[in-house]
Amino acid sequence: MSYLSQTDPEIADIIEKERLRQTNGLELIASENIVSCAVLEAMGSIMTNKYAEGYPGKRYYGGCEFHDQAENLARDRLKKLFGAQHANVQPHSGTQANMAVYFAYMKLGEKILSMKLNQGGHLSHGAPVSFTGKFYQVAQYGVDPKTETLDYGAVGEMAKKEKPQIIVCGASAYPRIIDFKAFQEIADDVGAYCMADIAHIAGLVATKQHPTSVGVVNFTTTTTHKTLRGPRGGAIMCNEEYAQAIDKAVFPGMQGGPLMNVISAKAVCFEEALRPSFTEYNKQIVKNAKVLAETLINSGIRLVSGGTDNHLMLIDLTNQHLTGLEAEVALGKAGITVNKNTIPNETKSPFVTSGLRVGTPAVTSRGMKEAEMRQIGHWIASVVKDIKNETLIAQVNREVTAMAQKFPIYPTV
Ligand code: PLP
Repeated sequence: MSYLSQTDPEIADIIEKERLRQTNGLELIASENIVSCAVLEAMGSIMTNKYAEGYPGKRYYGGCEFHDQAENLARDRLKKLFGAQHANVQPHSGTQANMAVYFAYMKLGEKILSMKLNQGGHLSHGAPVSFTGKFYQVAQYGVDPKTETLDYGAVGEMAKKEKPQIIVCGASAYPRIIDFKAFQEIADDVGAYCMADIAHIAGLVATKQHPTSVGVVNFTTTTTHKTLRGPRGGAIMCNEEYAQAIDKAVFPGMQGGPLMNVISAKAVCFEEALRPSFTEYNKQIVKNAKVLAETLINSGIRLVSGGTDNHLMLIDLTNQHLTGLEAEVALGKAGITVNKNTIPNETKSPFVTSGLRVGTPAVTSRGMKEAEMRQIGHWIASVVKDIKNETLIAQVNREVTAMAQKFPIYPTV
């Protein structure tokens, strides 16, 4: 930090405040995680200095021999991790990974069939405010209103009616197992491609805590920074037959120079994910989510679909007569970071919402287990049920900080 604090004390100060916020609070945002020191080091390395447009062995710049080695390692490790035939590790983000698949296999104006944003889908799956909603026609499925889970029969019927070019499965806020095989069968039935966006559950899929989509559907896209616990970024996996079109869509179709420091950090993340300890970590994420869900339910909090099979749960605040926004603010004051989230049959705007999304990847990275989840569940329930009680919130905040400090995010230097 010394170079930074000398050159730019303002940014150094902001980073230090953020380090303290992360250290002293509990991060329960389901899409966030805490990367290892090795990943951080690769991201902050001199690999950022180089242009390496193209792919290993076929670059548009000289001096790329070590960048080729790093990108080859990243690709090979990702293929090994998921048993994929082909991997592209260059997308700067999950959205760009999705964009590359659309650009490779859809003409402008053709149709995507995907999950509704307010029922768990992602912006890049066809929301009107995203390029996807502007460039393509979009038809969307939701969850069954009673079970609040996917209804594959209904999706199949929609696919027959809508005749999409690509069917997108995978979600940002869906707490249950997704049947990727069923989605590919639906796509095959109507002559569509199937893309699984496993951004949220990639770590669970890599470690077999969730059925895989790789080799099951035509294209799998992911982010590398959620349950996979790597640097912020995206990746695409597919069979060899799609490799050339996907690679061309990423570069030169959609991006210029790859972020080689990030690709190096992705390689580190994939190597870490191949270790047995990463499987243990992902098993613990799921165990922690189950215990947190049980604790909330036993405290009278309703969860969408009645629980969770993965790393996240959706709290329905309707019977607490609260909005997601109010709960997010109150829990934030207590040192617990969550995000407001729409729920099935939502009646409020995405800025207000009737729900909260809660996930366990980051707290599990800190080493927290079932006992801590029970405690966190009690804190969430007590704040949500007594949201105006500032004394209670201040007390919870003190207790949260005390617990957080027992689980440091990084060794102190
Ligand atoms: N896909 C899903 C399912 C996501 O949840 C997200 C992000 O939360 C993305 C894609 C987009 O990732 P990024 O923010 O890297 O563009």
